[in-house]
Amino acid sequence: MSRGFQVPRGTFDITPADSARRARILEAASRLLSRAGYGRIETPAFEDTELFARGVGQATEIVRKEMFTFADHGGRSITLRPEGTAPICRAYVEHGMHKLPQPVKLWYSGPFFRYEAPQAGRYRQFAQIGAEAIGSDSPLLDAEAILLLWDLIAELGIDGVELRLGSLGSPASRAAYREELADHLGKHSEELSKDVRDRMAENPLRAFDSDHEGTKRVMAQAPTMLERLDAQDAEHFEALKGLLDENGVTYRVDGTLVRGLDYYTRTVFEFTCDRLGAQSGIGGGGRYDGLVEQLGGPATPAVGWAAGIERLLIALDAPEPEAQSDVFVMAEDSERPRALAIVTRLRRAGLSADLDLAGRSRKGQMKQADRRGARHTLILQAGEPTIVRDMNSGEQREVADEHLADELSPPSA
Ligand code: AMP
Repeated sequence: MSRGFQVPRGTFDITPADSARRARILEAASRLLSRAGYGRIETPAFEDTELFARGVGQATEIVRKEMFTFADHGGRSITLRPEGTAPICRAYVEHGMHKLPQPVKLWYSGPFFRYEAPQAGRYRQFAQIGAEAIGSDSPLLDAEAILLLWDLIAELGIDGVELRLGSLGSPASRAAYREELADHLGKHSEELSKDVRDRMAENPLRAFDSDHEGTKRVMAQAPTMLERLDAQDAEHFEALKGLLDENGVTYRVDGTLVRGLDYYTRTVFEFTCDRLGAQSGIGGGGRYDGLVEQLGGPATPAVGWAAGIERLLIALDAPEPEAQSDVFVMAEDSERPRALAIVTRLRRAGLSADLDLAGRSRKGQMKQADRRGARHTLILQAGEPTIVRDMNSGEQREVADEHLADELSPPSA
């Protein structure tokens, strides 16, 4: 016999037990975001490669090493989406959403793909929930976005979470800062890791993310972008902090916070959870005031975030919810067709109902009813009326088949 197949490295199946826990997260996000005026958007799982090359940035790890890119049969270069913001800006421009009242608030959820080294909490296909508010540079938007992710994390009951907050300023002040930083790195180049040295001209800010001891020492002495913000960016950052304070959000200002995507301007933030180990980021985002224009739209400021569903699940560590159903029908062999007719009628009336489909004995069926967490079992015997057993009280009564749906419907709240 052949060994059979396994999922590709860095991917996994979502079984029914997992999907119940994932659904809880999605329902909470959907509720929270739609209350805040975010509309759900779904974009394709693949896009033109150029969208990410231009949107996410040629110098980023994602574009350099992590994209699943291939030529389709028409010779076009296609990439499985590694992130959601560039596709949403593409959709915003493509559908002329700049003509709608601004800001346009959108949320999404779905699979994303990055060719990363798999480990706990890091996969090659993972799911994100994300939110983008496009069309205003007000710090109110930044604050609202952060508050929504803060509230989602709180509603899910995740503890041990820290919010780090920074600002990358505007492209002009960042360009000047990058030169200053590259200068600092240049002066200490022999103390840096090879990787940082090779890329310090292209992307010096990434050196803040390095685990290399020598690099860390050099970076501890480096100037930070926060110290180099121009007056307007500094004012924007102060306003945001004030709004977060007023709404009970606690955070740590971190001048070394850099994120792996090039499009950020001004606000950047990241939520980490100490229950997660090395891959501690559960969600993050920031402002990207230049991206819509860079992708061919009008100059449009925007802010957004994405949170990883698998990371939220690990942080949550909640047990699988216990099975609960309304009815399980137990039937002796000759009564199985009648059992199917009854569950069909009950399901049509909106109840969750099931029957034994494996030819189990009476005892086996009883066990199955238990496993299903059935509130009632029905016992069918040839030539006898149906017996309804309340699984909590043990009480039994006879009910005519045509009255079952009415009798068994839970009292409406
Ligand atoms: P990013 O798009 O890199 O800002 O990531 C946003 C969030 O997505 C992170 O905070 C993680 O929760 C999640 N995430 C990113 N990459 C992965 C991955 N390879 N596997 C699982 N989750 C991920």
